[in-house]
Amino acid sequence: MSVLIFVDHSEGHIKKASFEALTYGAKIAEQTGTTAEALVLGTVSDDLAALGKYGVKKVHQVNNESLNHLDAQVYAKVIAEAATASGATVVVISHTQTGKAIAGRVAVRLKAGLVAGACALPDTSNGFVVKKTVFSGKAFANVSISSPVKVISLNPNSYTTIAGEGTAEVSQLSIAVDAPKVKVTAVNKVSGEIPLTEAEIVVSGGRGLKGPENWGILLDLAKELGAATACSRPVGDAHWRPHHEHVGQTGVQVAPNLYIAIGISGAIQHLAGVNRSKIIVVINKDPEAPFFKAADYGIVGDAFEVVPKLTEEIKKMKA
Ligand code: FAD
Repeated sequence: MSVLIFVDHSEGHIKKASFEALTYGAKIAEQTGTTAEALVLGTVSDDLAALGKYGVKKVHQVNNESLNHLDAQVYAKVIAEAATASGATVVVISHTQTGKAIAGRVAVRLKAGLVAGACALPDTSNGFVVKKTVFSGKAFANVSISSPVKVISLNPNSYTTIAGEGTAEVSQLSIAVDAPKVKVTAVNKVSGEIPLTEAEIVVSGGRGLKGPENWGILLDLAKELGAATACSRPVGDAHWRPHHEHVGQTGVQVAPNLYIAIGISGAIQHLAGVNRSKIIVVINKDPEAPFFKAADYGIVGDAFEVVPKLTEEIKKMKA
């Protein structure tokens, strides 16, 4: 019996959400008196033995080059076979774009119950009950899974990564990898230099910035903070910013530690993509803007005055 945690990576570097999944999975193993093991697919340049710091005892790697790019069907088959081989009773996957594509498929292959979008550790006092977010994070549901094998996809930023001491034993797992049925072309969409879904800080702009020619003030702030940039949907639709920066219900869902919204009203569809951010700062000239209700910090003011001042202050702090 074990808890198997799928570790996702981008170009060989392990993604932030995977460290949270590792810590979460290790805690479930502790709760259920089993061991935590990690699974890595493809070629990774990061030190896999160091994943022991997050509580896993073993790291299984299927080091096959055709796994360097995601094919959800191929991944699901390999993960399910690895789970069976390691006797996993719980499989943990991050609820990222990749995780969303594979968790359901893994669950079907393992005939397992799935909780997609978990946000807390399972309650194992009476069965196996997992809390998850529903309605784009507006409410919670407690879902009981009774199948022998359980699959959980964990919402990014809902469980704190804890790194301690320890080294994991790394072993190569031999699993036949099917040729992908579809041709996958990897397009690495980045905003600036930091991928949006991985960013610790996101600076986002809306229609309040009036036009693409005004984005300089936002880019300067993002540069000083080492942040990724994002935008509201109308901004993407109007081609003021590239489409892949559009966040929200119909765009990218982000969960950074800090989300700064500039000139964005805070429509429910926008909030659905950003409300898992740890801290939200809103800059808007309208004190009645709905976004202020979701904000941890709010600045009522004209973005064209406030943002350059903020950037200057950050520069001074860094000097
Ligand atoms: P506006 O609503 O026009 O707000 C602009 C804000 O800027 C205002 O609050 C204003 O007070 C402020 N402002 C103006 N000038 C200044 C200034 N000088 N300084 C500071 N503040 C200023 N939207 C998304 O973002 N993401 C989605 O995924 C998404 N999905 C959708 C799906 C559906 C099915 C539908 C119907 C809508 C969706 N929308 C989405 C659109 C959403 O409903 C809003 O229309 C949109 O988010 C508004 O964008 P905005 O806040 O940039 O613009």
